[in-house]
Amino acid sequence: MADSAGAMTDDGLREAVVAACRELAHRGLTYGTSGNISLRRDERRFFVSPTGMAYDALEAGDIPLMDFDGRWFGRSRPSSEWRFHRDIFKSRDDVGAIVHTHSRNATGLACTGRGIPAFHYMVAVAGGPDIRCAPYHMFGTQELSDAAVAALDGRKACLLANHGVIAVGADLSAALRLAGEVENLAAQYCAALAVGNVRILDDVKMQHVMEKFRTYGKQDATDPDLAFGGETLGACGVKS
Ligand code: 13P
Ligand code: ZN
Repeated sequence: MADSAGAMTDDGLREAVVAACRELAHRGLTYGTSGNISLRRDERRFFVSPTGMAYDALEAGDIPLMDFDGRWFGRSRPSSEWRFHRDIFKSRDDVGAIVHTHSRNATGLACTGRGIPAFHYMVAVAGGPDIRCAPYHMFGTQELSDAAVAALDGRKACLLANHGVIAVGADLSAALRLAGEVENLAAQYCAALAVGNVRILDDVKMQHVMEKFRTYGKQDATDPDLAFGGETLGACGVKS
């Protein structure tokens, strides 16, 4: 839902949060009422999923608005994790959306207190050479929020010991995609740990990956050995 200038209306933003919550369940990244999602509205306010509500029963009107002073507006009380949603938005201008999950493999790994080291180059999608694990604190507390903000420093994802995952992004689809990627990486890392002798990529190799990611998937990425031959096969003598 967009207004005449093409900007998303508040109802449209609420609908987007509901759709992302459903997507989280659909992708198998959460179970029951665990996890929560938020979407920045402006410099000091954000929409966040309500506490304790089943995702399939959610309606746009259930999504409260919150401000940085801890006030909420709407018919349903915000997620018990509103503190870390607020504190991440407050400390990170680059973040437009936050996804918190208890996805199976990442949470299993977090229950060992371990983060995800550079066992695979894709770890760099979270913005650095590792995905840290914040120490355990009770859910919903300021201590958990402070630990999460610290673990996210220079990163777009972290694990929470004995709890789950936080993934952030410029928008909801980026944050959801990263939450899925963290779960996939955690599953791969657990598989590698089970085999043993996991080889960790050094910081120089990971730095190169991060540089390459800047142009990955872009149509104008440079490759000195790759040449464009034309849009049709005819140019190389093949009848299409
Ligand atoms: P809420 O239902 O309050 O969002 O809590 C779920 C959760 O994952 C707490 O960490
Ligand atoms: Zn949680």
